[in-house]
Amino acid sequence: MKVLIVLLVLLSAGLVLLAPTSRAQSHGNEMAIVEFQDKTQLLNVTPQGKYLFVHDAEKKAEGKECFYVYQYKGDEADPLTVPAGQPVIAFHCEATNRTRASRLVVTIGFAKDGVMELREIQFAGSEQGHRIVDAM
Ligand SMILES: [Zn+2]
Repeated sequence: MKVLIVLLVLLSAGLVLLAPTSRAQSHGNEMAIVEFQDKTQLLNVTPQGKYLFVHDAEKKAEGKECFYVYQYKGDEADPLTVPAGQPVIAFHCEATNRTRASRLVVTIGFAKDGVMELREIQFAGSEQGHRIVDAM
């Protein structure tokens, strides 16, 4: 299935990608496939292409890294049909209260050098945004 990506200007600070390909999971994990058309800065990596994003609420409760990003080779939009590829990065996110999202919300901003930068992920059906904050 071809992923349709809709660009919306949300705030003057950035853009939001709405990707209709997310699937919420039970037992505390949320996951979604995110496709980056262009290289996008995510902390110290610059993903481009399809990736599986997983948020683990249990790990967060234990104070461990809670957000995991894996390469994803599948054609299907459903993360359950194809195993995740190589891990790309794991990090602590900062939870932010949001209004409930009907679909996956990926917030992209521009860094000072004009590079696109991933700022926040909110899974479909969730009232919590996962902000990506530089540890520095
Ligand atoms: Zn988290």
